Amino acid sequence: MHQHMPNNDPEIPENATSYRTRMNDLNNNPAIAAYYFQKRWQIFFEEVIKLKFKIKDYWWRYEWQHRGSSHIHGFFWMEDAPSVDALNRDDAESVEVFLHFWDQYVSTWHPDKDCSPAAIHPSAQLFNTLQDTKQELAEMLNRLQRHTKCAPGYCEHRKKDTGATFCRFGYPKACRDFSELSKDANRDFVELNTRRNDELLNSYNATFILGWRANIDFRPVINKEAVIAYVAKYASKGESSSSSYQDTLQKAISHLRNSDAAGVAYQKMLSSFAAECDISSQETCHIFHGLPLVKSSHLYRNIYVAPDEASENVNFVASEKEERGVFERYKNRPIELMPELANVSLLELEG
Ligand SMILES: [Zn+2]
Repeated sequence: MHQHMPNNDPEIPENATSYRTRMNDLNNNPAIAAYYFQKRWQIFFEEVIKLKFKIKDYWWRYEWQHRGSSHIHGFFWMEDAPSVDALNRDDAESVEVFLHFWDQYVSTWHPDKDCSPAAIHPSAQLFNTLQDTKQELAEMLNRLQRHTKCAPGYCEHRKKDTGATFCRFGYPKACRDFSELSKDANRDFVELNTRRNDELLNSYNATFILGWRANIDFRPVINKEAVIAYVAKYASKGESSSSSYQDTLQKAISHLRNSDAAGVAYQKMLSSFAAECDISSQETCHIFHGLPLVKSSHLYRNIYVAPDEASENVNFVASEKEERGVFERYKNRPIELMPELANVSLLELEG
């Protein structure tokens, strides 16, 4: 992104000052970063991912970590993927077909574990220097695709009974020579464990990562429970709301000494308002641009179906307002006058 900022002349060699200027320009204009991220993803998806993986349906959501790091949580439905519903884990042939398909797309095999990590972040590398070689892939994996550190509050959890800590993503993972469907220790579900020669490598797809040039966790869904857990816990969770004025003041007071004047509490409270933002500037800009937070190949409509939920219908000709429950209106649809309404669903009628 820095290289696309104004005042960058590729003919003139980069120096520390010119780089810093463009970095500051970008930091001061989060709207550019927000727009660029979604545009880059849209183009990458349309031109590469959709074709390469023969995607027939998709769902994704934009998300931002507190310092503004944009990322995407998504699901893709691939045209050729073996059906998960038809997967029979007790049938060797069914499992074989499944593994054979996914081995083409998902890997935990490091081409060169001992090479040095990419010297500059792969996304900052200039386009005309990209090589797309196995060596470049190995350096990139070492730079951004290994789970080298478990952090408390992120992935490090504690077992209730023994108090021992473990990584909620299951790292380090056992190396293996063959891919299999299995449930590893500390994991809740059976999952695809592809052949692996590096305990810390996140699963990757070479095309995806060489094209996108940032960390991507890519793997097949093999059970509904795991999807529900993923969607409910991470992918579609709401952002935590702002603390109330009272809570923030209370928190500021709890850090005071007995001898501090009351005004100090207000000072602390005001400085926490300034320092702890709930929503990053990039997310704010994404919303200001009018960009969607969620994108899907399907359109959804919300219909209130609570029996006592009355909805308003305005008749502009007679200037009247009619309040009736959605169910009631559906049940009383004028089938005698319009026989074609007999087979219309509630969704079609209300949509
Ligand atoms: Zn971890």
